[in-house]
Amino acid sequence: MRHVGKSFANHVVLNDINLRVDHGEIVTLIGPSGSGKTTALRCMNFLEAYDKGDVLIKGQLLGYSGTQRGPAHVDSASLIAEVRKPLSMVFQQFNLWPHMTVQENVAAPLVLGKKMSRQAAKAAAMAALGRVGMAQKADDWPARLSGGQQQRTGIARALALNPELLLLDEPTSALDPERVEEVLDVIRSLAGQGMTMVMVTHEMAFAAHISSRLVFMADGHIIESGTPRQMFTQPKSERLKSFLAPLF
Ligand code: ATP
Repeated sequence: MRHVGKSFANHVVLNDINLRVDHGEIVTLIGPSGSGKTTALRCMNFLEAYDKGDVLIKGQLLGYSGTQRGPAHVDSASLIAEVRKPLSMVFQQFNLWPHMTVQENVAAPLVLGKKMSRQAAKAAAMAALGRVGMAQKADDWPARLSGGQQQRTGIARALALNPELLLLDEPTSALDPERVEEVLDVIRSLAGQGMTMVMVTHEMAFAAHISSRLVFMADGHIIESGTPRQMFTQPKSERLKSFLAPLF
C-alpha cells in the first residue's frame, strides 16, 4: 500500500498508509477500535475503494485511487478480479451461504469464479476442508455448525482458492470464547505451513506469538511497526505504550 487514504464522508479513516508485505510474512494489524484496521485490510483487496494512493499486488496496480485515475491505473471489474487473484479473505462473520452445504460453500467460488468443473471443485473443496479438520462435516448445513466450525469452513473456502496471501479480518471476534482456540489452531497450522497472511485481531497473545511483524494503527495512521518483541519490549510511541499497558 502506497500513501493510501480513505474517508467515509468527512471522516478520514485511513491517512497515508504505507505497508509492504513480503512472501512468507505474517503481518498483524493491531490498534484500538475504530483505528482503521479492517478498512485497511478491505482496501488491500479492493473490497473497499480507497481515495488516495495505490495498492499493488505482486507489482500490479489493484483498482484505482480517486485522485489518480489514468491509463496506468486498473479500473475495470475484470482487471481488478485478475489482479487480486493471489488473495483470499476470511471474514469476521464467516459469510457462509445458508442454503448450501459446507462442501458446496467451499466449492462454489471455484465453479463460479475459477470456472472449475463441479467434480474438480468438489475434490479441491474436500482437500481444503481436510486442512481445517472439517471433512466429516462436508454434507452439513451451516446452521447446524458451531461458530468455530463455520469459521473453519470460511477458512477452507479461502484456502481452496489456493491464495498466495490470506487476509483474515478478526477471524475469532464473532465466536464464543470456548470456540476461539480451535480457529486459532487452524491459523497456527497455516503459519507452520508458510502461508503469507495479513490479519486483524484483538487476540494480542496470539498475535505476538504468530506474527513476524505487528503494525500498530491509531486514528487511521500507522503509528509504528516491528517484530512482536520490539513492539512489546521497546514500544517507541506513547500511543503504543498506553495501548499495551492493560496487557501487563
Ligand atoms: P474494530 O477494531 O472495532 O473493528 P477497526 O480498527 O477495524 O475497528 P474500522 O472498522 O476500519 O476500524 O473503522 C474505522 C472507522 O471507519 C470507524 O470510525 C468506523 O465507524 C468507520 N467506518 C468503517 N466502515 C464504514 C462505512 N462503511 N461507512 C461509514 N463509516 C465507516
